[in-house]
Amino acid sequence: MATERYTVRVTKDYLVFCSGHFITYDGDQCERLHGHNYRAAIELEGPLDPSYYLFDFVTLKNIGRRLTDELDHFMMLPTRNPHIKIKEVGPQVHVSYKDREWVFPRSECVLLPIENTTAELLGRYLAVKLLEELEQKHHFVPDVLRVEIEESFGQSATYEWRK
Ligand SMILES: [Zn+2]
Repeated sequence: MATERYTVRVTKDYLVFCSGHFITYDGDQCERLHGHNYRAAIELEGPLDPSYYLFDFVTLKNIGRRLTDELDHFMMLPTRNPHIKIKEVGPQVHVSYKDREWVFPRSECVLLPIENTTAELLGRYLAVKLLEELEQKHHFVPDVLRVEIEESFGQSATYEWRK
C-alpha cells in the first residue's frame, strides 16, 4: 500500500544568526575564537490537519526566528564541555582552556547546555527547544523534525528527531 508523507521547511535570512564560538577537538585541541553567519533550516514531517495543513508556516517562522535571535550577536559557550571551564564572576564570564583564558561580559554570552558548539549540537539544541514549544504552545508533535545548521556556504549539519 502506498504511503504519503508531507514536509514543510522554512529557511531564510531571518533564520541567520551571527555568533562567536570555538570548539575543542581531538581531545586536546581548541580552536581560536571566531564566528560564523550560521543559517538554520527547520523541517517538519507529519499528517495533514482538517484544513489540509501540516503546520502553519508563519508560526513556524516566528518560533524559528525567536530561537535563532536568542543566539544572534552573542558569544556561544558550551557549559558541558569537559575541557572548557566556565565561571560566572559578577557581570563577567571567565572561560579557560588549559593556559588560555577569555573574559566576556555575561550579557554578551549565551551559555548553552551542550558539550561543544558544533553545528550538529546547535541543531540538536534548537530542535529540543522547538519541540518543547510546538508541544506546549501548539499541542503539535511532528512525526519527524529536522534542524539543519549551515556554518558556512556548502557546509552544514542536520539533526533529526523522530516520534
Ligand atoms: Zn567555527
